[in-house]
Amino acid sequence: MNARSVPPHLTEGCAEIPILRERGQREVFCGLTGIIWLHRKIQDAFFLVVGSRTCAHLIQSAAGVMIFAEPRFATAIIDERDLAGLADANAELDRVVQRLIERRPDIKLLFLVGSCPSEVIKLDLSRAAARLSRSFSPDVRVLNYSGSGIETTFTQGEDACLASMVPGLPAQADTAHPALLIVGTLADVVEDQMRRLFNEMGIAPVAFFPPRRAADLPPLGPGTRFLLAQPFLADTARALEQRGAIRLDAPFPLGAEGTTLWLQAAADAWDIDAATFHRATAPGRERAQLALARQRDQLAGQRVFFFPDSQLEIPLARFLARELGMQLVEVGTPYLHRQHLATELALLPAGTMLSEGQHVEKQLDRCRAAAPDLVVCGLGLANPLEAEGLTTKWSIELVFTPIQGYEQAADLAELFARPLVRRTWLAA
Ligand code: SF4
Repeated sequence: MNARSVPPHLTEGCAEIPILRERGQREVFCGLTGIIWLHRKIQDAFFLVVGSRTCAHLIQSAAGVMIFAEPRFATAIIDERDLAGLADANAELDRVVQRLIERRPDIKLLFLVGSCPSEVIKLDLSRAAARLSRSFSPDVRVLNYSGSGIETTFTQGEDACLASMVPGLPAQADTAHPALLIVGTLADVVEDQMRRLFNEMGIAPVAFFPPRRAADLPPLGPGTRFLLAQPFLADTARALEQRGAIRLDAPFPLGAEGTTLWLQAAADAWDIDAATFHRATAPGRERAQLALARQRDQLAGQRVFFFPDSQLEIPLARFLARELGMQLVEVGTPYLHRQHLATELALLPAGTMLSEGQHVEKQLDRCRAAAPDLVVCGLGLANPLEAEGLTTKWSIELVFTPIQGYEQAADLAELFARPLVRRTWLAA
């Protein structure tokens, strides 16, 4: 088996360059935000946030424009009496869950999602989940994870959610033959495209995690080779490795190049010959390259500044620099997982200014001084920066939108081109 995925001639980037580490005030959403895309992915799961009215407002306003059916998330409100320890929060939680499950027989997997308030009153949601799972087994499984905003960033909610599911994955029966596991939420349309590509290469069996249905849990064991589809899954990867699975090192499937190298990592692990790999991937890659060439006219030479927010910043920066010719002013990331991002760092242009963590005031000063053409940042910073005349892109949109794979490469470029085109119109 060969897990190498970045050809040697491409490994001249900035894997070794120093990184500016900052600690200070940060402007990020909390992990509850992940519920918005997770509840759409696992179609028979329900997310019950155990939190305050603030938590309920956050979820409703973030999801408000995206709900097309009866929501599969809600907030069990912890009120002042709970905070003062006057009410038995566990008994109240049991009552809420009982009512919910009676009313919604479609729920097969219930997540109790911790928040800042539930952590403040030290409500032990893991014990509550175990107790409720016993009560409702085998019809409903109850798991818990924390979406609390204390010292986290918003994509960590997905990491915590997936990590909570790993202990429940069944053991792989046949460990002599490798099985591929794709880890991280992908839109169904992207998942179907990837499945077709693996199929054309003869890579099987392939499973996706999280699954679309709670019961479709992929088997896990020493025969499992996994590819991360998202760069923010450190805890999930650790939990999978503890069960014997082996991570395939690869850049993330953004853009024609990233997608090719990501697929290549699986192909190498399965010893797929070059001709088969080419036959399966060339049509998609060529379509993507053609579509990107049109976007390149718009984006080449434009200077982009990333504030740390989604943890997608480094793969996105690599895509913008290498496939669209954009100039990277600063690439900020909330956390840098050097191992998971090693192949991405190797592909960044030498000398790229990287920063980890945030001191928002200092970073704003650097951004203003650089006057980039485009700023990728969280919602909280976007409006003030727009008011100062800078052009922004909300980083959260890049997590909600299908952007992975060949067929989505041009859509991803378009997300960056659109604010620049709007600025040109406004200036005209
Ligand atoms: S979990 Fe914490 S940060 Fe997130 S909405 Fe609730 S109170 Fe705010």
